Amino acid sequence: MLIAGNWKMYKGRRATHEFVEAFEPPPGVDVVLCPPYVSLREAAAGGVRVYAQNVHWAAEGAFTGEVSAPMLAELGVAGAIVGHSERRQYFGETDETVARRAVAALEAGLGVIACVGESEEEREAGQTELVLRIQVEALADSVGAHERLVVAYEPVWAIGTGKTATPETAHEAHALVKSMLEVPVLYGGSVKPENAEELLAQEGVDGALVGGASLDVDSFTAICATAARIRS
Ligand code: PEP
Repeated sequence: MLIAGNWKMYKGRRATHEFVEAFEPPPGVDVVLCPPYVSLREAAAGGVRVYAQNVHWAAEGAFTGEVSAPMLAELGVAGAIVGHSERRQYFGETDETVARRAVAALEAGLGVIACVGESEEEREAGQTELVLRIQVEALADSVGAHERLVVAYEPVWAIGTGKTATPETAHEAHALVKSMLEVPVLYGGSVKPENAEELLAQEGVDGALVGGASLDVDSFTAICATAARIRS
């Protein structure tokens, strides 16, 4: 079971230092923290496994504002998230660029958490399965079931909204992803200590990608502890 904390654009070096000083991951669960680029080194120095929130497909070049996989590896970063819905929504990320980023990260020896998920309009229009199929196919075609690839199913309408997928909805989506790509699948979307157990207990849910609740050391620790309990 993997619990990953996506800090988004929160926590600079000082706040990161305070978090990792206070954080004691419970035994029996894999934990990853995904701080902003500027805090990666601070987090890694605290002994936690650390992923970036994005990674470019080129090793180097004229790509202002981007960071490459070899640069992350050199820093002691273990992997990267790709295709988070906020990247797709606000920064023009497409299935093609997400796949290119994933390939480059894996080639550099990093782990990858690739995010997929339908928007509220897509769900209401009955397009959830189609959207997931297209997104997962892009990964299946370019990467396949790589041993360092994990998919995160994050319904966009559940991210940062307080709404969560029902355990049945998560189960259905995870089964679809796994039928196309045999890799672990995390659930993401308003996971909190109060709902972690029912979501993580679902068959086919191999962990969680946690946003808001990962910013508080106590709530993140509680989610990690729940995952450890379920697995044991
Ligand atoms: C996320 O950012 O990946 C996420 C799932 O956010 P939240 O837990 O806040 O919904």
